[in-house]
Amino acid sequence: MPKKIAAGNWKMNGTRASLPDAMAIAATPAGDCAVVLCPPATLLSQMGTEGLALGGQYCHPNASGTHTGDISAPMLADAGATYCITGHSERRADHGESDADVCAQTEAAWSAGLVAILCIGETLAQREAGETLAVLTAQLNGSLPNGATAENTVIAYEPVWAIGTGKVASPDQVAEVHDALRAQVGPEMSLLYGGSVKAGNAAELFALENVNGGLVGGASLKAADFAPIITALA
Ligand code: PGA
Repeated sequence: MPKKIAAGNWKMNGTRASLPDAMAIAATPAGDCAVVLCPPATLLSQMGTEGLALGGQYCHPNASGTHTGDISAPMLADAGATYCITGHSERRADHGESDADVCAQTEAAWSAGLVAILCIGETLAQREAGETLAVLTAQLNGSLPNGATAENTVIAYEPVWAIGTGKVASPDQVAEVHDALRAQVGPEMSLLYGGSVKAGNAAELFALENVNGGLVGGASLKAADFAPIITALA
């Protein structure tokens, strides 16, 4: 059975004042579900790891070197991370990260012993053109390195048009994609849905056969919002 994972992506949000929320999230009963919090790197080493696992939001393909402002997978691991998001659409858009870049980052994450949460997703224009499954397959083929296993990789399907917009993909839309992904990655790899997951829609999405959890942005910042999402999965 794929592992159930409730992952929170804090993006560029959070200061030390947010640490009590992380503690409250960690204290939420999660049953057999793994709770992963991906705060800004500045907070990683300040968060406890009891009740949750920590993740980075990005890693450079190299372990160290002359790359001002970047962060490497071994640094994330040293700060307490056991996961790392790779290929988030905001990184692909804001920093021009290609599938090849994401592939190299994912390998770097593995080399540091991190589980990669590899994100793929189509834009609204691609969906409206009927290209969703073709786009996702191309992204997966281009950004998932050889050697991916259910132990070192989690796939997050995040339709770009549903991220931070309040527009959640319908259960039918999510099921179509996740069923196709399941056929491509085998029976054990966890498949997360991301894009405006909230307490009010989480249960319906997590009930889908091939949805093993969520990658949650805005609704993971406050324990009051994230806890019911964890409960819906647990
Ligand atoms: P959202 O973000 O939940 O705020 O839509 C999800 C994500 O980008 O991972």
